Parts: sequence; structure tokens; C-alpha cells
Amino acid sequence: GGTHYTLHRFPLEQKNRSLQAWDAADEYLIDYVKEHHPSAKKLLILNDDFGALACALHQFDISALSDSYVAHQAWHYNLAQNALDESNFTALSSMDKLDDYDLVIGRIPKNSGYLQHQLAQLSQTLSPNTPVILGGKTKAVHTSTINLVSRYIGPASTTLAVKKARLITASMHNKAQQSPFPKSWSLEGTPYTLHNHANVFSRDSLDIGARFFSNYLPQSKKALRIVDLGCGNGVIGLLTLAQCPQAQLTFVDESCMAVASARLNVEQNHEHDLHRCQFVQSDCLTGFAAASQDLILCNPPFHQQNAITDHIAWQMFNDAKKVLRPGGELRIVGNRHLQYHEKLNRLFGGHKLLGSNKKFVVLSAKK
Ligand code: SAM
Repeated sequence: GGTHYTLHRFPLEQKNRSLQAWDAADEYLIDYVKEHHPSAKKLLILNDDFGALACALHQFDISALSDSYVAHQAWHYNLAQNALDESNFTALSSMDKLDDYDLVIGRIPKNSGYLQHQLAQLSQTLSPNTPVILGGKTKAVHTSTINLVSRYIGPASTTLAVKKARLITASMHNKAQQSPFPKSWSLEGTPYTLHNHANVFSRDSLDIGARFFSNYLPQSKKALRIVDLGCGNGVIGLLTLAQCPQAQLTFVDESCMAVASARLNVEQNHEHDLHRCQFVQSDCLTGFAAASQDLILCNPPFHQQNAITDHIAWQMFNDAKKVLRPGGELRIVGNRHLQYHEKLNRLFGGHKLLGSNKKFVVLSAKK
């Protein structure tokens, strides 16, 4: 109450600037902590998208955890913009080990497998009676969500809805439990087993877009420099490694668990090719040198957290144009209705249709 913060969504240059960087669930969590746990010291914050919780609860000793590279960037940016120093702030990735805390708060992640993983991690490190408070839009709080909290932490209750947001509260009571992740399955028609950390896209089976794309991957004996952009579990790059025995492959994703899964999948399925692979957590192709790549393969994302948006695809295509050498190629798969060909025409002055079915198209554009 009383203090105001200015918060920005990330990345800063995205088109839809009217989307807010916080919501009623953040406000509810902040008010609840201040009212019920004002004297907690060590606070763990899970899944803060843009830093609303980190900024508003800055007086605590904060560890903040997110799988997202973009979220980490947003925290640092928004803390600095609000003149809040980081002396009592520790940023953790989703693959980092947890500690014990006085209080755990967080946003309910969209992916319930990832929630389950986080709760299992907490069950291994929290002392008895540590409060755990998770918030989300009322429509994100299902009976199954409450049951997960009860199963891993202890008897859970929900608070009244306020502005269409709700909290789940519990305190540590149960014994330590193992996370069911990473999960593994064999990739049909190949000798490969794919391993998937909890927050990886399409972690239970091959994405149907990726399946269609797999028919249109390069085959070449040349020493191409290839990027698997938005690699997820790395399936596209893995299949490409086999068909391009001289290529250098770079796997890129903004999700820490995606990059870790891609690495694990090359280690487990193509160990002798690790020397020609790189694994990078980044926002699109930030940090890549201009004109440094021959081919970029991409099955773009079409939402950011809960917002449906094509700004990430647009940023990926823009970055691809910069990072490709003249004559280099961007090859993508997408849902027909997304009309990606219009973006390619605008950026590259044309495109080629490599394949299509009822749902998907595979498009190619040359710089
Ligand atoms: N390549 C995998 C496949 O075909 O199954 C995953 C494709 S999935 C549709 C899109 C991927 O883009 C997700 O793994 C997501 O984490 C990643 N992504 C989202 N935003 C990103 C960004 N700003 N920079 C890099 N990757 C991003």
C-alpha cells in the first residue's frame, strides 16, 4: 500500500504494449504476504513473470526462480528502473537447487507438470510448517491444482476470489517426494529416446507441427552452420545432426529446461556429435553475430505466458534475417492460419512453400 512501481513487460520492443506486466494475482499475493507474513526474512518467489513480486516485496531477502531467460531480464530491468538494488536478491534458474526458506510464494505455472516438479523440489528442502502460497487467475486454480499442493506440501485451502484471482495456501507437512521429471519416450521411426525436463514444450509426445517439419529437414554433406531456434527438447536439431554429418548445430531456447533437455538428448542419442553442438539460453538470437549462420530451422512459439501473440515469431524472423549470411535460409513450420508467409514476404521479399497439409505449412525464405 502506498508505494508505486513502474513495471515493463519484456521484451521491451514487443508490439502489444497495452498488456500489463502484473495482474490481480500479483496484487493479491503481495497484500497477503504483507498482512500474514510481515516478519518472514528469507522468501522464495516462484514464476514471477516480469518482476512485480520481486519489486513490491523488495524489503525481504529474496530468491526468485524462473525457467525463463526473458523473465530474468525483466526482473533485473524492472528492479533497476525502480531504483531497487540487488543486494538482497538472488536469481535462480529452474535447474538450480533449492534451499530452505521462511516463506514460499509464487504464480501457478500454466504447465501442471512443471508445478508438480516445483512442489516435489520444495518437499525435499523445506522445513516443517514453512508456508507455501500460490496465486493465479481463478480459472488457473483447478481442483487438480489444489490436489497437487495437498499431495506434495500438505492440506491446502483456497482463499476467496478477489478481482478474479485466487490463492492456494498450505504449509509444509508431507515427506520428501521425487519429481517425475525428466520424462522419457521413444521417438517413433527413429532409434532415439527423448528426455524432457518438466517445463519443456510438448514434453509428453512429439508436437504435430514438429512431426510435419521433420519431413522437410536439410540433408547435406556440407559444413553448414545451422541453428535450431526455439529448440524445446531439441528434436529438430537432433534429426538434423543425423542428416547433416558435417554441420555445426546451435540449439537455442529461452527456457532453461529446454536447453538442458536438448543437451541431454544429444548426449544420450548422439554423444559422438556433441563436439559439433552448442547449447544457448537466449531471447531469440540476441548475442549472435550478424551473417554468421547458413540455415535457421524454427517451429515458432505462438504465446508468451498466458498471452496469445505472434511477436516472438516476428522477433525470431527479424533476428534470423540479421544472423543469416547473404544467401542463407530460414526454414519454418507453422499453422496455416498464422499466415507466416506474410511476415516472410515483408522481411525477405518472398518465400517458397516446401510442403503443406490440412493444418501446417513449411516455408523457406532466403536472405
Ligand atoms: N523446436 C521444438 C519442437 O519443434 O518441438 C519446440 C517448438 S515450440 C513451438 C517453441 C519454442 O520456442 C519453445 O520451446 C519455447 O520455449 C521457445 N521460445 C519461446 N520464446 C522464445 C524466445 N524469446 N527465444 C527463444 N526461444 C523461445
